[in-house]
Amino acid sequence: MGQAQQQKFQGSIKVSMLPKIYILDDDLQFAELLSEVARSAGWLTEHKQSASEFLKMSLPENTVLVLDLNMPEMDGIEVIRALAEKNIKVLLILISGFDSRVLHSAQQLAEAHHFKVITCLSKPIPVKEFTTVLEQTLPFVGGSTKQATANKSIPLDELEQAIEQHQLVLHYQPQINIKTGKLEGMESLVRWQHPQRGLIYPNDFIDLAEKNNLIDRLTDEVIRLAVEQNKKWQSVGFNVPISINVSAQNITSLHLPEQLKDLTDKHAVTAENITFELTETAVMSQLTSSLDVLNRLRMKGFSLSIDDFGTGYSSLTHLYQAPFTELKIDQKFIMKMTSDTEALVIVKICIMLGQMLGMKIVAEGVETLEIWNELQNFGCDVAQGFLIAKPMTADNIYEWSKHIDKKEWLNK
Ligand code: C2E
Ligand code: CA
Ligand code: CA
Repeated sequence: MGQAQQQKFQGSIKVSMLPKIYILDDDLQFAELLSEVARSAGWLTEHKQSASEFLKMSLPENTVLVLDLNMPEMDGIEVIRALAEKNIKVLLILISGFDSRVLHSAQQLAEAHHFKVITCLSKPIPVKEFTTVLEQTLPFVGGSTKQATANKSIPLDELEQAIEQHQLVLHYQPQINIKTGKLEGMESLVRWQHPQRGLIYPNDFIDLAEKNNLIDRLTDEVIRLAVEQNKKWQSVGFNVPISINVSAQNITSLHLPEQLKDLTDKHAVTAENITFELTETAVMSQLTSSLDVLNRLRMKGFSLSIDDFGTGYSSLTHLYQAPFTELKIDQKFIMKMTSDTEALVIVKICIMLGQMLGMKIVAEGVETLEIWNELQNFGCDVAQGFLIAKPMTADNIYEWSKHIDKKEWLNK
């Protein structure tokens, strides 16, 4: 859509339906190119060359801003600071002609100020790449992300009831040994089978449970489901370890190791079949009590995995102190490792670090064969991701596992 057409369109009744994007860049030609691409993708656009002019505008909530970091009068970092001071919430697409490390650290800074950074792009930006970014941005526009809307609409008592009435179900995602191609384990992922709303994903209710003291009950239910499933499978000769996600608050209960041992004993499931996944942030937020609980869980034979590794703030000392048996590299790095040199370096270092500390290394978010092959070259132990399979119901993963010898993901 050209400028003239856009003006005509703005005058029509449809204008409020169109998403809008602001471009702040001193480079006129470049900004015009981005505007043109955005307009042809159906967006309204507004370009400002000067930061001070942009900052004077009154901006609606969730304004999408393409921000160039390198501007003469006031640079992008200063703009981020000024927006934070004025408490203006924008969704950022950061661009720069500098190397990608500058972009990444600007992203960290923006996120520390609680801005959502949609992506970082290095100039020159291919038209196709920018079009894809616009598509990815669309769901965020309009004042609410999917997650926020869902959270708002789920009342706490409904979640409480769901736990009591056993509406939570587990799906399982396979973890494959990269050397042998064999099923090494599976991660259990909770879903809420809501009688009216259908299947609800964990990102839409875990937070609610954590903030309202419901997470212990939720985790108890999840552990019970996983242990019972493990026992059922064992009775048909399907003996595969299960990983269970645990929140920070769960590991403050000093009785947890004994309770879990009692539960597994009751179902005749060996502790070796259960791995607990915790994020670095969860461990760090409750360091003293978590070290106590983690050590005793380990002593009772459970395995422990450090989840989303690379995104939290643990120091090497803490990693060394806690008795983790497995390190799960965050999917953000895995997904980008074939297109972003820094992500590749981080993955390589995590693999080396984990191996030197005697841990099993799991790569999560393996979506392509190219990534699988790279991980194999680096000596990573286990892969989990959509390339192999999406999370499945208990019945489906049992069926799926019968044909695993075909290693169909290697022919994709
Ligand atoms: P997580 O522990 O990092 O789990 C991995 C998430 O990534 C899952 O999303 C999984 O479906 C998704 N995933 C796996 N492979 C790929 C891939 O190749 N590509 C992409 N794009 N995604 C992939 P899910 O099931 O929606 O779970 C989201 C988060 O919810 C989990 O992240 C975990 O933090 C939390 N969660 C799930 N189940 C539980 C639970 O039982 N208890 C607690 N406390 N948290 C849970
Ligand atoms: Ca996990
Ligand atoms: Ca993870």
